Amino acid sequence: MILLPLGTGNGFTKKYFHSNLLINMGSKRLLVDAGTTLRYSLDRAKVTPFSIDCIFITHLHHDHVGGLSEFLTSCYWRFVSGNHQPHRPTLLLRPSQFEEIDRLLSPTLNNQGLVWQDYCIPYVMEDGTYTAEDYFLCIIPSDNLHCEGLKSCGLKIIHQSTGHNVLITGDIKNLAQSELLGQINHNTQAIIQDLSFSNNNVHATYEEVLNYYPKNVHKKVYAIHYEDEFNFNKNCRVNILRQGIALNFK
Ligand SMILES: [Zn+2]
Ligand SMILES: [Zn+2]
Repeated sequence: MILLPLGTGNGFTKKYFHSNLLINMGSKRLLVDAGTTLRYSLDRAKVTPFSIDCIFITHLHHDHVGGLSEFLTSCYWRFVSGNHQPHRPTLLLRPSQFEEIDRLLSPTLNNQGLVWQDYCIPYVMEDGTYTAEDYFLCIIPSDNLHCEGLKSCGLKIIHQSTGHNVLITGDIKNLAQSELLGQINHNTQAIIQDLSFSNNNVHATYEEVLNYYPKNVHKKVYAIHYEDEFNFNKNCRVNILRQGIALNFK
């Protein structure tokens, strides 16, 4: 599994792109979140939208979904030697997300005789899971734990043959109420954790992350979604993801 952070910044970043991830799982390529900076971050990573097989959205804040409509439009309007050959990625949806996504995408994509479902292949993860070749995806719900009244979730990606797995927390504040700890085992290779180095109401702080995860897990934590002001020279007990620098897990 290769995990490429297209961006590592928070919602208001001017220095980085939004914290969206590209994950190669065997021959399949998954995009986790599609923020408003997606068109630039894909371009910087030299990744064409047509190479992305499936998309998963953790929640509907602008830095995670603001670029989805544009992304699907650019996939659909692919021309090969002058011929229209739409690329329709699979859009993985939590059952509770279908209505939200319908409300979000309908006004921009339901025209020209098309509906948003023509731009992608919606796949409702009825039991919260999805299998892609030898990889198994599993939703980790975190509704109300990022923001009160907001549906949100993380994702666990498991390589079925080896059991090796990676956790993506999505945005979360209230770690103590989450199911994340229960998902960690000796095969967990990384926890991609949104982390804020200053106090705020919607993201876990550095201290909260250190307190939540046992000490022996700290070295598996990779911080993302941090402030533009973060100083990389600062001594940090968790890893810091760098934009455009891939993690390669065997
Ligand atoms: Zn965010
Ligand atoms: Zn958010």
